[in-house]
Amino acid sequence: MAAAPVAALVSAAAPLEVLQRVWGYESFRGEQADIVQTVIDGGDALVLMPTGGGKSLCYQLPALIREGTAVVVSPLIALMQDQVDALEQLGVRAAFLNSSLDLDQRRFIEQQLVAGELDLLYIAPERLQQVAPLFDRTKLSLFAIDEAHCVAQWGHDFRPEYLQLDELGRRWPEVPRIALTATATVDTRSEIVERLGLGEARQFVSSFDRPNIQYRIAPGAQARQALLKVIRDEHDGQAGIVYCLSRKSVEQTSAWLNEQGVEALPYHAGLSGEQRRRNQQRFLREEGIVVVATIAFGMGIDKPDVRFVAHLNLPKSVEGYYQETGRAGRDGAASTAWLAYGLQDVVQQRRMIDQGGGSPVRKRAQSQHLDAMLALCETVECRRVQLLRYFGQESTACGNCDTCLEPPPTFDATVAVQKLLSTIVRLARDYNQTFGAGHHIDVLLGRRTERVESRGHDQLSTFGIGRDVSEPTWRSIVRQLLASGIL
Ligand code: ADP
Ligand code: ZN
Repeated sequence: MAAAPVAALVSAAAPLEVLQRVWGYESFRGEQADIVQTVIDGGDALVLMPTGGGKSLCYQLPALIREGTAVVVSPLIALMQDQVDALEQLGVRAAFLNSSLDLDQRRFIEQQLVAGELDLLYIAPERLQQVAPLFDRTKLSLFAIDEAHCVAQWGHDFRPEYLQLDELGRRWPEVPRIALTATATVDTRSEIVERLGLGEARQFVSSFDRPNIQYRIAPGAQARQALLKVIRDEHDGQAGIVYCLSRKSVEQTSAWLNEQGVEALPYHAGLSGEQRRRNQQRFLREEGIVVVATIAFGMGIDKPDVRFVAHLNLPKSVEGYYQETGRAGRDGAASTAWLAYGLQDVVQQRRMIDQGGGSPVRKRAQSQHLDAMLALCETVECRRVQLLRYFGQESTACGNCDTCLEPPPTFDATVAVQKLLSTIVRLARDYNQTFGAGHHIDVLLGRRTERVESRGHDQLSTFGIGRDVSEPTWRSIVRQLLASGIL
């Protein structure tokens, strides 16, 4: 049973008092106090705060202090039940409307809304059209638009239903709006402002730096072995998340880790709901469990002591990478973000974009996201400087990333690049066919593989002219040319 409603008790109280009495927290964090006050005073706000920063409170607290019901739009349907449960525990009257409810349940909540019996109503964006007519008969305290980056067509997580949210500001201009996101580049930010009509909104941009996370990005050769070494040497018996691209590789990697003595559990959409719940619960409650997962895992999981997040494939965007790695070290203790990627990943993702069903605009956006991710992988600069710059924040070399700790050797690759390009041109011109990077490297290194001999590529003038450069270096050159879009 929920405790007695608290809203009646707090509506005249000061924000700090409500924070302490309802949530039991001592003080506001970061910019929470300013944000909360802005909304209480009826102003609009755009909030950029990294995951774990405490965004929910920024609309939940004003929802209690202002008169009426707060409508919270969120695409994360799976989390609504948890959020509502947590609020009810605090004595807050909350409910949600999404596709998981039947007609009777929906009616009941709609009645509660109109009767003014809710402090907060969570709602999926696709339900909005249906419910909006009721807003005219309801006292509304505020609109909160969570995951606001979903409105940006250039963003990495565009959702068409979000485009209709501009209607909220036009139809109910007197109701303050607060838009929140943990991931927005400078461009995405201005698209949010434009599409949601938030030109007048105060912007609150927290620092995106997570100084306790050590960023490391390695070439993909023997990625699993390298991962095992990271776990054994640095995170033995600690909790971590390993991200893979496909369900199959999730299963294989988790089985393999168990064979190596690491306690690993799989998590992906192909498992039954029951199995997923059980694995998630074990991860949250037991110590030292490693979850191997597709990217679906982690949304809304509030486990403070995740000591490492590893990627065995290239993430599709810097935003995605930042969000996923951000699940490490929420408690502030030293943590590792480790990523291994290879040429295969780049080729595969380019193909997925080309053959995917998106519009030309979406494809162009996806391609730019991939390029930015590759640029981060191939940089010889501080990873953190590059990452933060992507989110519009300037900083200096951090001393806690792989490129700071072990600066990569750089050399002038002009001649090598010329050799590679002329090999590519010759193969393409003479044989009217395209070959993989591995084959080009074989030719440059003068290897008489079956493929080289059967195609007569040992007769090319570039055969063997790259013996002065090692194979890993050739791979790195190819990756950098791919990353910079030259190939
Ligand atoms: P976000 O939505 O930004 O990822 P949450 O709103 O889920 O973050 O908050 C992250 C965690 O921080 C939660 O466990 C929340 O209870 C806690 N938290 C938020 N604000 C405060 C505060 N002022 N004092 C203490 N804990 C807080
Ligand atoms: Zn650095």
